[in-house]
Amino acid sequence: MVDGKKLTAVLMQISHKMTEQKDYLTRLDAAIGDSDHGINMARGFEAVEKKLPSLADKDIGTILKTVGMTLVSTVGGASGPLYGSAFMKAGVAMAGKEDMDLSDFLEAMRTGVEAVQMRGRAGAGEKTMLDSMLPAMDAMEEEASANAQIHTVLKAGVIAAWDGVEGTKDMIATKGRASYLGERSVGHQDPGATSFAYMLETIASMF
Ligand code: ADP
Ligand code: MG
Repeated sequence: MVDGKKLTAVLMQISHKMTEQKDYLTRLDAAIGDSDHGINMARGFEAVEKKLPSLADKDIGTILKTVGMTLVSTVGGASGPLYGSAFMKAGVAMAGKEDMDLSDFLEAMRTGVEAVQMRGRAGAGEKTMLDSMLPAMDAMEEEASANAQIHTVLKAGVIAAWDGVEGTKDMIATKGRASYLGERSVGHQDPGATSFAYMLETIASMF
């Protein structure tokens, strides 16, 4: 079971991970974007981190919604509104819940991924964050339906997410800034897919 205290601890670690990987994510964005993905993610989660102490005793929905609103208001790039709506919609799905079990967690994640699809009008294979999100979700739901424990479910998700990240190298970007490059985007790894894999890897490390 994940309560508000645990969720805020996980978010704190995600923030640390984004700061740790800030330069790497920014370098990835330098190749096919505008060199700011790491800066965006680190800035957004630093703002989230400041709010965490006052959120630990709140319900899951309130915490997730606050994270989403904070990301939207502090991150200028495409990733702010995308990750922001993911957390906000996940928060709506978890409204009023004091804790989450595995099926709640997967419902929140799936709702968040669907929010990214709607907001970004993108699907699989367009060289975006969805190319790590979608395979990770599918892998986690499959493990969970075979009655696996949370640790095993998350581990399967992390493997699928990094496979997805690897797969973005072969894709032509058709959404976001990288799409301006067309075929020249091939050979480069998508920054947003990478930040999501780090996020999920951080979550998995805490279970
Ligand atoms: P910006 O592109 O505005 O500079 P970031 O650099 O922070 O914003 O984020 C870029 C990432 O956002 C990309 O690597 C990609 O994963 C993701 N992205 C961009 N557009 C979309 C979209 N329409 N749908 C899903 N993800 C997208
Ligand atoms: Mg960028």
